[in-house]
Amino acid sequence: MLVVMSHTATQDDVNGVCAAIKAMGYTPAPMPGAQRTAVGLVGNDGRVDDSLIAELPGVAKIIHVSNPYKQVSREWRPESTIVTIAPGVSFGGNDVPVVAGPCSVESEEQILESARAVKAAGGVALRGGAFKPRSSPYSFQGLGKQGLELLALAKRETGLAIVTEAMDDEGANLVAEVADCIQIGARNMQNYSLLKTVGRLGKPVLLKRGMAATIQDLLLSAEYVLSEGNPNVILCERGLRSFDTTSRNLFDLTAVPVVHQLSHLPIVADPSHGTGRRDKVIPMARAAVACGADGLLIEMHPHPDRALSDGAQSLTVDQFGDLMHQLRRIASAVDRAIAGAPATRRA
Ligand code: PEP
Ligand code: MN
Repeated sequence: MLVVMSHTATQDDVNGVCAAIKAMGYTPAPMPGAQRTAVGLVGNDGRVDDSLIAELPGVAKIIHVSNPYKQVSREWRPESTIVTIAPGVSFGGNDVPVVAGPCSVESEEQILESARAVKAAGGVALRGGAFKPRSSPYSFQGLGKQGLELLALAKRETGLAIVTEAMDDEGANLVAEVADCIQIGARNMQNYSLLKTVGRLGKPVLLKRGMAATIQDLLLSAEYVLSEGNPNVILCERGLRSFDTTSRNLFDLTAVPVVHQLSHLPIVADPSHGTGRRDKVIPMARAAVACGADGLLIEMHPHPDRALSDGAQSLTVDQFGDLMHQLRRIASAVDRAIAGAPATRRA
């Protein structure tokens, strides 16, 4: 941390800042310049409260030179982390796993049909919410425990790994019994008590970026999970709130290379929530693989027109199959591969 003094600051002001830094247990390093003095804070362990210094006389601004997160950073661990959620289903390596399925688990028939379609097209994990964070309390809230039982059934039948959302501490324990990976949704990205709970549960976590969260916010949320002793976090870009109404969200694919630079954790992309329209999901899924995403989360429904949530952004089974073929070609063009067995082309 660097404290930049104002050009009118006196020596007493500089001494006051140095004394405050010492009182906090760190070493001040004053650097007098031609125009103004800066005071470095040496020994920053990431817990410095800059508000104690910001209001001292003569302080112009404070510049943070190190990151507020630690364990998620590339400095902490230079090699990329590979998160394995089930045998053969890993995120962060050369293979790109595709997780697909409906927004919500709606019925036995719907989830089994979805799971079979995901498997047939070459997806390696099934998604589907049993606990749904809906903007309106009057919208379908998910089947809850029964939805989890249906996911377990789909897993037994197809062998697909399961990714499903937990919304609170109680739900997290239930979800952990069935899921191979616990999803924390955009709306709960900053629910720190839930993050600590899933950190302690030890199951892999898919952490979605909040709809108004910076990348630093996302990394700090992941830090909560890691700091509870759970290193298996997969980050997810799912689009941000924006002023533009032509798409549901602003899909920030820049997050993929930015996260790869700042963190060793894998980052997957969710073009379904990122765009909100099924015709836009396909090109943005292609773009996500091309820019280096470590996996994809795709909403697909056997009958999107009848979906109880997010039908407009859900691909049909045929569209999903076609997309998987396209993704294989794109992955090979960037020296990667889509995980799992190649799908058999439909007639
Ligand atoms: C979902 O994956 O269906 C979902 C609710 O996503 P998000 O939290 O990104 O809105
Ligand atoms: Mn959804």
